[in-house]
Amino acid sequence: MVSSPQKTAAPAPAGASARAMNFKPVGGWPVAATPMRSVNLIVIHCSATPNGRWVTSEDIDSWHQQRGFARNPALIGFNEPALKHIGYHFVIYTTGAVRIGRGRAEVGMHAYGYNLLSLGVCMIGMDRFSLAQWDSLRENITGLLKSYPNARVCGHRDLSPDVDGDGVIERWEWLKECPCFSVEDWLARGMQPLPENILADPPAPSPHPSPGERGGVGSLMRPSREAA
Ligand SMILES: [Zn+2]
Repeated sequence: MVSSPQKTAAPAPAGASARAMNFKPVGGWPVAATPMRSVNLIVIHCSATPNGRWVTSEDIDSWHQQRGFARNPALIGFNEPALKHIGYHFVIYTTGAVRIGRGRAEVGMHAYGYNLLSLGVCMIGMDRFSLAQWDSLRENITGLLKSYPNARVCGHRDLSPDVDGDGVIERWEWLKECPCFSVEDWLARGMQPLPENILADPPAPSPHPSPGERGGVGSLMRPSREAA
């Protein structure tokens, strides 16, 4: 004789009601409940825009749209849903504000051959960044390393091929300059920038925020926090 399901079902964990165990939200679990993606690399970039110029995530989103980048609509969730193309996970504005691009669960589009297991952080500027930006970079990377303690932190240019095989990516081997400062030196100095990479006159935010900028700079998060 076949037993009834009630009699054969595994006992519910203490405190878990049958109702809670059977709960499944309409449309699937929210993005915040998805497992974290494996990350073994954190890549720092610069936007390669003039030092101190006011550039926003919306600007980057349109540039990345032109390059054909696209986010996976199924993973966007609450992470800047208006930005459909941006390839970075974080953007650090000239004011030091940190803005989320892609959520951590999304594979980025920022370092050819390394996107699958990495996160991309972009500093707005060329090779000089405000002290507020440097503070935010330190806070951002420190926070990410708590989530991914075994991740390597490097600059985009450090992912260039080691042409002569000596184990060091030398200047002549760089495919590009990005992020235009030595991440290795920055780490070795306890995440403090070299004087030549500091923007002396901190820029004022643009009086004309980009279209789509909600509430201007004051609405930006600092330090970074994200939902996924
Ligand atoms: Zn880059």
